[in-house]
Amino acid sequence: MRQIQNRSKLTGMVDLKPWLGVQGLTVRDFALGLDVPLKTAEDWVYRGVVPSTDNQAKLADYVHARCAHYWVIAVPNGPISEGVCQLCGHVREFTNSTEYAGPLAKPLGTTDKAVEGKSAA
Ligand SMILES: [Zn+2]
Repeated sequence: MRQIQNRSKLTGMVDLKPWLGVQGLTVRDFALGLDVPLKTAEDWVYRGVVPSTDNQAKLADYVHARCAHYWVIAVPNGPISEGVCQLCGHVREFTNSTEYAGPLAKPLGTTDKAVEGKSAA
């Protein structure tokens, strides 16, 4: 009998090192932004030190505010879809309304004539 592992991530705690890399931030920027000593920030980023509850809240705010969220939205199932940010793990709900035009939506007014690579010789 196999046990099913619940691999859902804990929300709120980001893997800081890759996150900072993606945002183009240094640990120094991060420390300044959070108003914590550089060494403290380095402990969190490089040594996996878990911030205090206060700092965790601060950190989550900072990450949420700074993150260039990359939402991956689940297959619509009802009026609400759940989106998870691939960068910070933040979860939010998206309404499946008509306002949302997916990236696959065809722009209106464009012709379907594809320009072919071959020239008519
Ligand atoms: Zn994010």
